[in-house]
Amino acid sequence: MNNDIENTDSTVSFQTEERITIHHDFMRTALTLAQEAYDNKEVPVGCVFVLEDGDERVIIGSGRNRTNETENGTRHAELEAIDEILASQKYTSDVFRKCVLYVTVEPCVMCAYALRLLGIKHVYYGCANERFGGTGSVFTIHQDPNLSLHPPYPCEGGYYREESIMLLRRFYIRENEKGFDQMP
Ligand SMILES: [Zn+2]
Repeated sequence: MNNDIENTDSTVSFQTEERITIHHDFMRTALTLAQEAYDNKEVPVGCVFVLEDGDERVIIGSGRNRTNETENGTRHAELEAIDEILASQKYTSDVFRKCVLYVTVEPCVMCAYALRLLGIKHVYYGCANERFGGTGSVFTIHQDPNLSLHPPYPCEGGYYREESIMLLRRFYIRENEKGFDQMP
């Protein structure tokens, strides 16, 4: 491990955004979770699910990657949050039709399909996932007409993009020295 990198600024900075919107508020919470993942030596991705009911918006679940801790490559932030929401027993899986997802990195192919199965209403993400992205970068699972059994969903990136990328970059610099090659 390179202590020089480890000891540099490990706090996400939010100062580069000129305009704070409701999307940015939720994305900042997702970034805090991504930072927590980084601090725990996980691929730094975080997310929140927001239930929209009229004008009300409330976070009903959140997650961050736990693939190393669980030694399970499917434990991505999105699936962690989905499991948390369903385990609470306050909601059935129908709730996702009224939910918006804020996630720091574009969902991978696996998560993009899971979100489609659940009928997610809208997805906002930070930076693109150029290697495994399922909502535009590599595949377009969110809009693929061949998956017509489940409704397509809109997906929009670029919220705190730089901060999301910087966390990933710092993670990969640190982990590449150990020879890891993990997907977000
Ligand atoms: Zn994923």
